[in-house]
Amino acid sequence: MSAESLLHFDNVTMAFGGNRRNPDGVVALENLDLEIRADEPSIIAIAGESGSGKSTLARLGLGMLKPTGGRVIYKGQDLWSMSGDQRRDYRREVQAIFQDPFAVYNPFYTVDRLLRTPMRTFKLAKSKSHARELMEDVLDKVGLRANEVLGRYPHQLSGGQRQRIVVARSLLLQPHLIVADEPVSMIDASLRANILTKLKELRDEFGISLLYITHDLATANQISDKILILYRGRVVEVGDASTVIQRPQHPYTQLLVSSIPRPDPEKTWEGRVEIPLEELTPGADRAGCLFRHRCPHAMPECEITPDYYEGGYGQSVACYLYRENGAAN
Ligand code: SF4
Repeated sequence: MSAESLLHFDNVTMAFGGNRRNPDGVVALENLDLEIRADEPSIIAIAGESGSGKSTLARLGLGMLKPTGGRVIYKGQDLWSMSGDQRRDYRREVQAIFQDPFAVYNPFYTVDRLLRTPMRTFKLAKSKSHARELMEDVLDKVGLRANEVLGRYPHQLSGGQRQRIVVARSLLLQPHLIVADEPVSMIDASLRANILTKLKELRDEFGISLLYITHDLATANQISDKILILYRGRVVEVGDASTVIQRPQHPYTQLLVSSIPRPDPEKTWEGRVEIPLEELTPGADRAGCLFRHRCPHAMPECEITPDYYEGGYGQSVACYLYRENGAAN
């Protein structure tokens, strides 16, 4: 872990439902290493299909799940052994944006109340007029006019407005990191680009890093600096986002990329390559490359779990096809 580490997944494993007959449980995420630096605001995409472990990763980063192996460390401190003050800072500095964020809020609460709650919790405003000023400021930052949204209820707003209000709510807290789990998947295609631009501005204008969880490689390509491709809980390819998406090397990444509609690679990817649930294997049954039963290049050594090799364009790939390139850094 570097001195400038913001959030660090240190060899993190998450398994569910272990019992005496199956002590390892079902593994959702395995030996994940990922570091988000404090001194380089960046957008890191975590991409994969249903069952890949990406939402588990988001929940671990938000402290909603305790890992069964390894540690999640925020500013040098394990999330699960923080003091009360450290936990409070972490809760303010790491914010979440979900697919349908208003689904978790009371539909009878107005936008004002949604924005005032964190201000009260974290004592952000000195007076009522200061609170109003802060609300207007963050709404302006996400391109909304206060008089158009304050006093309204969630059902009176469009999907794009709701998501921008949630971004505004995050901004009130001046976070260092936002974990965004499929933030644009329920938004009309016409509004998606607008929200993605706002998310990018968070990095560029406010120095906020983003963990962008998505099944959509096209949007990942549009906004991310780095990408991790997850398959059944393991990172199979990691590197610069445009390199991985434009020159995918792992056979699974190639399969994902091939399902992006052509000829317009910028177009939002609607194709899904679903992972059958029976492929969510118990921990005891995870030896070897987990993609080997679907891989057109599978060979006998794929029965042993591959290390990471240089993919040839700067990415790291967990696949024996690249063994001759040597081990990845
Ligand atoms: Fe295919 Fe083997 Fe590479 Fe796995 S390690 S992706 S089975 S070639």
